[in-house]
Amino acid sequence: MTTQLLWFRHDLRLADHAALAAALEGGGRVLPVFVLDDGAAGAQAYGGASRWWLRQSLASLAESLAGRGAPLLLAKGRAETILPALAAGLGAATVHAGRAVEPWARDQSRRVHEALQDAGRALRLHTTVVLREPHGFGSGSGKPYAVYTPFAKAMLAAGEPGMPLPAPAAIPGAEPPAGGETLDSLGLYPVAGEPDWAAGFPAHWQPGEAGAQARLARFAAGPIARYDAARNLPGVEGSSGLSPHLRWGEVSARQVWNAASQAAQGSGAETFLKEILWREFSYHLLWHRPELPERCLRPAYEKFPWQPHAPLLAAWQQGRTGYPIVDAGMRQLWRSGWMHNRVRMVAASLLVKHLLQPWRDGAAWFWDTLLDADLASNSASWQWVAGCGTDAAPYFRVFNPVLQGEKFDPAGAYVRRWVPELARLPDAFIHRPWEAPAPVLAAAGLRLGHDYPRPVVDAAEGRARALAALAALRPDS
Ligand code: FAD
Repeated sequence: MTTQLLWFRHDLRLADHAALAAALEGGGRVLPVFVLDDGAAGAQAYGGASRWWLRQSLASLAESLAGRGAPLLLAKGRAETILPALAAGLGAATVHAGRAVEPWARDQSRRVHEALQDAGRALRLHTTVVLREPHGFGSGSGKPYAVYTPFAKAMLAAGEPGMPLPAPAAIPGAEPPAGGETLDSLGLYPVAGEPDWAAGFPAHWQPGEAGAQARLARFAAGPIARYDAARNLPGVEGSSGLSPHLRWGEVSARQVWNAASQAAQGSGAETFLKEILWREFSYHLLWHRPELPERCLRPAYEKFPWQPHAPLLAAWQQGRTGYPIVDAGMRQLWRSGWMHNRVRMVAASLLVKHLLQPWRDGAAWFWDTLLDADLASNSASWQWVAGCGTDAAPYFRVFNPVLQGEKFDPAGAYVRRWVPELARLPDAFIHRPWEAPAPVLAAAGLRLGHDYPRPVVDAAEGRARALAALAALRPDS
């Protein structure tokens, strides 16, 4: 009986998994394996929050596989050494895997491919991460897209993505060789004895395919219809919360697309599908511009006069900027591993514009603390906010953190939840506590500059400074 290797990467699920389906096609045995290859990922190795999620997700995947008759072999080290050795030991001619888009993962695929080929074996890559692979998808002139709107139009014109594959009822597993890692020995969790910053995560999340399906079903059954209006309000659960599940491939983009299209007609579903296309666009950009995480796509911005300042960066990271909507977001991020999209934009804008901190410092913090940290979406979004991406918010458009708070969190529900020291302020001052008269502050039990900081920068001054820096750069000259 033949054996095939199934290499799980960023697609930790059993349903709609083209590589799993292909491995089962021949009717032989399958050995599923996950390789933690921090060496290949290098500086882009998973952040702390991602590692927490990954461990939970692997536990869930192992359980699902066991229920269908297959083990999950865990390994740690270089994929191009481990996979060919496993294939040789099992007599497997083919390794099936999903195609990954990250530059390090593409290099990894190449090395695995070469090592297998040298031994007369093959790596077969399948589409498991995106709706459409970015290679071979271009504009009329064949060039990759640099701007979202024509990209999204072309994606929609290319037709529906097709029906998702069901999860196989049984997977005839091959016997794994001795010596695999355990979930503990992979070392994904924070070091024992350190304060467990992830302690609050389980209250918000259920990593794994079952958790992903439950969240998708819940969203498609109701909130999607109100998505258009509610997605911008951080105080309500108006968006799907699917991002960490999508990032780890516990649900496929195609499953989400189909569930959303079938669940609801109208502007809610339409807007939601456009967001899924933003994810696709980010992957498209990362594939065609692999420098996306490292360098400004508009080269002129490499000369931007950032003013790196560790105390300002720390105030932002810790949610102590004095701007309530930003601080609420940064604390939501720390405590739950996720931040609302509107607040991500406002918080990122404050950092790169009012505070003139390099966008890469902000992206690095998000990378370490977001459970959905995704090299494509994170890098593309930071470049969008900083104005240095190919399809970016113009640099001169500076979010006002007070007005954004008042518009999208008018009664301060979000701020009160995440910044409890402000909870007793009246609505009129919840986004501008420094303007509250002394008796109002006293009634709210708030000592400004003591319990909660004054703004680290005056919003108008910060804006003017950012615009002056931009004018000096003359990015479009
Ligand atoms: P929904 O509104 O329910 O959207 C559904 C899905 O569409 C999301 O799960 C996500 O996969 C995708 N999506 C939505 N908006 C975007 C977007 N602007 N760009 C790309 N994909 C999108 N998203 C990440 O998944 N990982 C990141 O590391 C990440 N970093 C970001 C950094 C900054 C500075 C900003 C402004 C945005 C970032 N985003 C990132 C995009 C967006 O904020 C999140 O995808 C969204 O908040 C996730 O919540 P949700 O699942 O409820 O989204």
